Amino acid sequence: MITNNLTFIQFFHWYYPSGGKLWNHFAREASFLSSLGITGAWLPPPYKGGSGAASVGYDIYDLFDLGEFDQKGTVATKYGKKEEFIKAVKKAQENNIQVIADTPFNHKADGDQLEKVSVRKVNPENRNEFISEPMEIEAWTKFFFPGRNKKYSEFIWDYHCFSGVDWAENLKESGIYKILNEYGESWEKLAEEEYGNYDYLSYSDIEFRNNSVREELKYWGKWFLEITDIDGFRLDAVKHINPEFVNEWIDYMNSISPKKLFYVGEYWNDQNAESLKKYLDVSQGRMQLIDAPLHHNFYRLSTQGRDYDVSKIFENTLLQHRPELSITFVSNHDSQPLQLLEKPIADWCNPLAYAIILLREQGIPCIFYPDLYGAEYADRGKDGHEYHIILNKVNGLPTMMLIRKHLAYGKQHDYLDHKNTIGWTREGVEEKKYSGCAVLLSNGDDGWKYMVIGKQHAGKVFVDCLGKIGRKIMIDKNGGAKFYCKGGSVSVWVNRMVIERKMLEY
Ligand code: CA
Repeated sequence: MITNNLTFIQFFHWYYPSGGKLWNHFAREASFLSSLGITGAWLPPPYKGGSGAASVGYDIYDLFDLGEFDQKGTVATKYGKKEEFIKAVKKAQENNIQVIADTPFNHKADGDQLEKVSVRKVNPENRNEFISEPMEIEAWTKFFFPGRNKKYSEFIWDYHCFSGVDWAENLKESGIYKILNEYGESWEKLAEEEYGNYDYLSYSDIEFRNNSVREELKYWGKWFLEITDIDGFRLDAVKHINPEFVNEWIDYMNSISPKKLFYVGEYWNDQNAESLKKYLDVSQGRMQLIDAPLHHNFYRLSTQGRDYDVSKIFENTLLQHRPELSITFVSNHDSQPLQLLEKPIADWCNPLAYAIILLREQGIPCIFYPDLYGAEYADRGKDGHEYHIILNKVNGLPTMMLIRKHLAYGKQHDYLDHKNTIGWTREGVEEKKYSGCAVLLSNGDDGWKYMVIGKQHAGKVFVDCLGKIGRKIMIDKNGGAKFYCKGGSVSVWVNRMVIERKMLEY
C-alpha cells in the first residue's frame, strides 16, 4: 500500500490580520486543505508574545500562556484563545492533518522586572571580542509572569537563565551585552562560527548551560504535548541555540511521547548548504531542516529570468545533499515583501517553483499561506516609505497540489539538461489509477523535450492540465513523447482520463 505524498502548509504569514481569528479560520479550512492533499500544518507560535495582541509570536514572553491569562494587555494571542487553539489542532487531526507548533526557544522578550546584571559589551561583528570592561547594567531579565500567578509552573527566570541582552535600561543604550554569570564570559558553543559566535540573536538570549533551564523546557514540552496533543514542532532559530540542548530536548520528548513526533528546524543560511549539512551532522537525523538555499535559488530564478541557468536549480541545496531531511518551500513569513529576509518570488516564477517542490520525489514541500489564499497589507519598508502590498494567489497551485496528491508517484526520470528548459516525469504506481505525469518548464522561450514516462503509458493520450497548451500528445511505443511548454511557464501533462474523471477539480 502506497502512502499519500506528504504536503505541509504554513498557515499564516507575517501580516495575517490581528483579532484572534486564525485558530478558528484554520479549523474551518481543515477539510478543504485535506481535500487538496495537505497532510501537515505549521501554525504560528501559540504562546503569549511581548507585544501582546499584535505579537506575531517570535518575541516570546510566556510558553505556558496559550491565550489564557491576562498578560501583556490581552488574554487571547494574535491568533485566538487557548481553547480555540486546542480545538483547531483536534479538527485538523480529524481531517488527517498533523499539526506542528512553531516554538521559539532561543530567547524571551519583555521581562517583568529589572535586575542588576554584570555584563561586557561585545562587537556585533565578532561577538567573541569584548568592547567594554565588565560593568553593571539594569536589564529586563526577571520573568515571573504575574498574570499567570504560578499556574502550571512556578519557575522564575532571572539573569542566571540568560546569556545576553540587547538593552541597558539605566544607560538607555542598545548593544549586545554578554551577561557574566556562573557560566563564564563565553557564549555557548554552536555548530559554526558566523560573527565569531551567533548565539545571540535578539531579546534576552536563553542560557542552555543552566541545567534548571533545560529541565524547565522539558517540563514545558511534556505539559504542552499533554494539553494540546500536538504532532510535532518547528524549532525556531536553531542556528542560535546550543545544539546539545536541542538534541537533549528532542530525545526527551521522544521518550515521553506516545506518538512519533515530527521536528523541523529553522536553520537560516540561504546561500550555504554546507552550513546546513554541518548542523545536520550535529543533529544526527533528529530533525528535518527547511531548505533555505533552494528558496534562494528560486529567488535567483525569479530575479534573473532567462539569464538564470535553471538546470542548476538544485545546486548547493539541501535537496541535493540530504533530500530525506529537506523541507522545501518557495516563500515564508520572513521572505515576504517588507520582512527581514525579504526575497519575494515574482508571479510568473511561482508556478515553476511550486512545480519543482510539489511534483518531484525529493523533499517535503511546505506551501505558504498567501500563495493559496492571497494577502494584502501595508507596512514601512527598509527605506522608511510606506508600501501597500498585494500578494496574488499562485496560478494553478490547487491543481498542482491535487496532482501531488493523486498523480505524482513512482519512478522519476530527470531531464535537467538545458539552461532554460528542464523537465522530469513520474511513471506513476499501480495503486493510484491514472497516476504518472510529465512536467516541463521554461524560464526562456517556448520549449519542448522528448521525455520517457514509461512503457505502461504507451498509446495513452496526455493533456496539459494547467491549460497552457491545448494540443493532445500520444505516448509512443517506447513510453516517451515530445512534451511542450510556453516560455516563462510550466505545463504538467497527465493522462486525459484524469480530466474526464474530474480528478483535479476542487
Ligand atoms: Ca542563543
